[in-house]
Amino acid sequence: MTEINPTCRFCRKTLTIPIPDDERLGAMVVKLSANACCDRCADFRRWWRDTTDAMQAITFQLTSDKSNELRARVRGMVERMCTGMVQKAEDYYLMHGLQPYVPEFVACIMDHPDKVKWQAKLFLDRVAAMAYEVHHRPRPATITLPANQNA
Ligand SMILES: [Zn+2]
Repeated sequence: MTEINPTCRFCRKTLTIPIPDDERLGAMVVKLSANACCDRCADFRRWWRDTTDAMQAITFQLTSDKSNELRARVRGMVERMCTGMVQKAEDYYLMHGLQPYVPEFVACIMDHPDKVKWQAKLFLDRVAAMAYEVHHRPRPATITLPANQNA
């Protein structure tokens, strides 16, 4: 049995996928490996999707019932979920200091309760861009001072 080494489509980590001996099955695995991702990315993305699905189900109630009591209860749940999502995004992208963005995230979701998935995607895209900036920013060039001529 041979193996191929595609990269994770999200984090570019090198993966190892065994190729079955059957020719057609092997060709299919090779073709599908273009979309492969590592366990860490898969776990995070699945958790994020499940959480946004759950939040969508909660905020969906606001489309039919606009009472202040329900709105306050939903807001409490959304705040707790957003705090958890921001924490999870910090862990995944190896960043910290994102908690101040929680109120803005909650406000976006409460303003558009029917577009939770879209708001969550926008938020995650922003965090990914910030993480890219933080982790890939070129380091300042080291400055070599000329040797002191007078010494
Ligand atoms: Zn990955």
